[in-house]
Amino acid sequence: MKLILDWDGTVTVRDSQWLLLDRFGDRAVWRAAEEGLGRTLSYRELMETEMATITVPLEEAVSYLLDTVEVRQGFAELASRYDPLVLSSGFVETIEPILAREGVEVDVVANRLDPRPDGWRVRWNDDAPCPECGDLCKRRSLPDGGPLVYVGDGYSDRCAALAADRVFARRALAEYLDEQRIPYEPFETFDDVAAALT
Ligand SMILES: [Mg+2]
Ligand SMILES: [Zn+2]
Repeated sequence: MKLILDWDGTVTVRDSQWLLLDRFGDRAVWRAAEEGLGRTLSYRELMETEMATITVPLEEAVSYLLDTVEVRQGFAELASRYDPLVLSSGFVETIEPILAREGVEVDVVANRLDPRPDGWRVRWNDDAPCPECGDLCKRRSLPDGGPLVYVGDGYSDRCAALAADRVFARRALAEYLDEQRIPYEPFETFDDVAAALT
């Protein structure tokens, strides 16, 4: 069994990209952009538009996240027991400092940042569109072999979750799976996930 964890809103209690945009980005731009997601904007366009509103040095942003981001109860224990892969549409540069703070070593597959002073750019880990959903998507980065257990919370988890053998979901991902009548297990903490996997 391979355990796959989304990062923002799944490992982290609050979405760290939202925290960054709220603290350092242009709210008007990202509010408008979020409204268009899945309609007038692809996920790629949304991310690029939002991140371009951040202009602070990366160190300042990371320092803010280190002070602000909380990880979900039971993360370190789950990580040491199941050696999960963190598969995120966020950024290696903002994930790894939090892992280090928590003393957790896991593999991370995520995008990268080019934090330019005229607006951050996204360096996509995989910029070929997914054959299933047509957008940039985490499904193509799932490991081969299985069974796969996927744990997520949001829009960017939809397509990857459909490819997993077992899904733990909360918030927007849970609502989507309800609509699609696809079974999943709800969770609040990683203690819940660990108990269900035992
Ligand atoms: Mg998420
Ligand atoms: Zn997809």
